[in-house]
Amino acid sequence: MSDESIIVVGGGIAGLTSAALLAKEGYQVTLVEAHTKLGGCAGTFKRGPYTFDVGATQVAGLEKGGIHHRLFHYLDIPLPNARILDPGCSVDLCDGTGPINLWHDPLRWEKERKEQFPGSEIFWSLCSQIHKSNWAFVDRDPILPVRNFWDLSQLIRAIRPANLLTGVMSKLTIADLLTITGCQKDKRLRRFLDIQLKLYSQEAANRTAALYGATVLQMAQSPRGLWHLHGSMQILSDLLKNSFLRDGGNLLIGHRVTSIFSDKNTNTFDVKVIDRRMNLIQLHTSDIVFSLPPQSLLDLIPIDGGLSTTYRKCINKLPKPSGAFVFYGALSRSELPGDAPGHIQIFDNHFGSIFISISMEDDQRAPVGMATLIASVFVDVDHWSNLDSQSYVSKKDIVSRKIITILNKKFGLLETSWIHKEFSTPRSFERWTGRPDGIVGGLGQHPTQFGPFGLSSRTPLRGLWLCGDSIYPGEGTAGVSQSAMMVVRQLMERKGRSLNIPVFN
Ligand SMILES: Cc1cc2nc3c(=O)[nH]c(=O)nc-3n(C[C@H](O)[C@H](O)[C@H](O)COP(=O)(O)OP(=O)(O)OC[C@H]3O[C@@H](n4cnc5c(N)ncnc54)[C@H](O)[C@@H]3O)c2cc1C
Repeated sequence: MSDESIIVVGGGIAGLTSAALLAKEGYQVTLVEAHTKLGGCAGTFKRGPYTFDVGATQVAGLEKGGIHHRLFHYLDIPLPNARILDPGCSVDLCDGTGPINLWHDPLRWEKERKEQFPGSEIFWSLCSQIHKSNWAFVDRDPILPVRNFWDLSQLIRAIRPANLLTGVMSKLTIADLLTITGCQKDKRLRRFLDIQLKLYSQEAANRTAALYGATVLQMAQSPRGLWHLHGSMQILSDLLKNSFLRDGGNLLIGHRVTSIFSDKNTNTFDVKVIDRRMNLIQLHTSDIVFSLPPQSLLDLIPIDGGLSTTYRKCINKLPKPSGAFVFYGALSRSELPGDAPGHIQIFDNHFGSIFISISMEDDQRAPVGMATLIASVFVDVDHWSNLDSQSYVSKKDIVSRKIITILNKKFGLLETSWIHKEFSTPRSFERWTGRPDGIVGGLGQHPTQFGPFGLSSRTPLRGLWLCGDSIYPGEGTAGVSQSAMMVVRQLMERKGRSLNIPVFN
């Protein structure tokens, strides 16, 4: 491998996207993925005739001009077969009132929220202004946070007067917007916002940056939207893998990076990798695109491996993201209400909320007449690490039973309704994705942590680049694809080239 080669660590959507882009640009790229399957948190697994999405079940950014659409078009690969979700989600606040449906049509959604949250239109119209200004800004591919002159030039290029107006709100939270618009007393609206924002920003309304929250709150509506993939989430990874291999990429699957060492004299890295048989492979490279959570760097780069103490401390101080506890079940479709939407969020006193995804009749996740149902809740990873095996089994059992009870009550099911039941804990996620302690979803989008104030894709180690859900703009397959595009642009600029991916507006 030459010193001009690039190693991409991690074959989730962030790593795959950056690897595919770099290979398309003619670089010699090696993608190292520890698992035998690609996809990470957006991967899938099979149990008999059932296919389950491990984590992500909805996709944003497939519409014309959306980030997946832009990148797939550039990579010259087909878009996956998908249908728009309408509603994107049905939110049940469990307060005796009907569910709140996030309709795709903006006018229908406006009517819905006027009925559901009377008097709150001023709040929604402020969110809508921010949302429009933000999307236009994001579509101009800014670099955030800024670390050098080129980053700054890209940021300035993306800014318009409307962004300067919304920019003054960068320190505000969604709860502040409620107060400014006089909607802070609407407890039902607040509960709705708290549970929806937790899904997308890891934080409740009082801790979610207004500029981030206003955007994700309108992700389900046209001209954006949330999509359901035909087959499974795996198709996203498969398509990116095809692009990477077509363009000469070298895929090391089932290979785990065990150490990264920077040689300051040559500005290169020695990367140790082991395969499933524990054979050691030594790679040498000028650049590493690292798509794992940044916390993993602390274990992979030894103390004398080149990462400064200051940067190690900065990573150590990052707020810990949540973990997930997920139920994967299968049952006869006739057991479910005929009108059950594909994606449902239910308020729950204990878990905060539970997010449910039900397979569609003909989406190939279950045989005809059957359905898969995936339900996930956020958990604190610290409550799961360091448990002895007995305490772990008993905790898993308690949480599993709580979730099943909620599902049985919601859909009027019996214990016997379930043909398949399986659960994953933060430990399972750690095993599946290698994410430390099973943290998922990236950094919380608090005003001190989002966008300009977040963790940069540039690191103090020349040639070590970060992407993935801890980097701007944050979690989700769409978010990490945006981060992958950003890091590839920065890396190419360092090498004297530029990457221009067409915009479709
Ligand atoms: C329960 C749950 C539900 C979600 N729902 C949605 C949703 O509906 N829609 C949505 O858009 N997003 C959703 N997300 C978030 C989304 O899945 C993630 O933000 C995104 O997939 C993260 O991609 P990534 O590439 O940054 O990281 P990852 O997917 O974590 O990929 C990292 C990869 O690195 C590999 N790896 C780890 N260690 C090593 C090593 N040492 N050497 C080599 N390889 C290594 C892992 O095996 C993995 O493949 C959800 C997440 C969870 C957990």
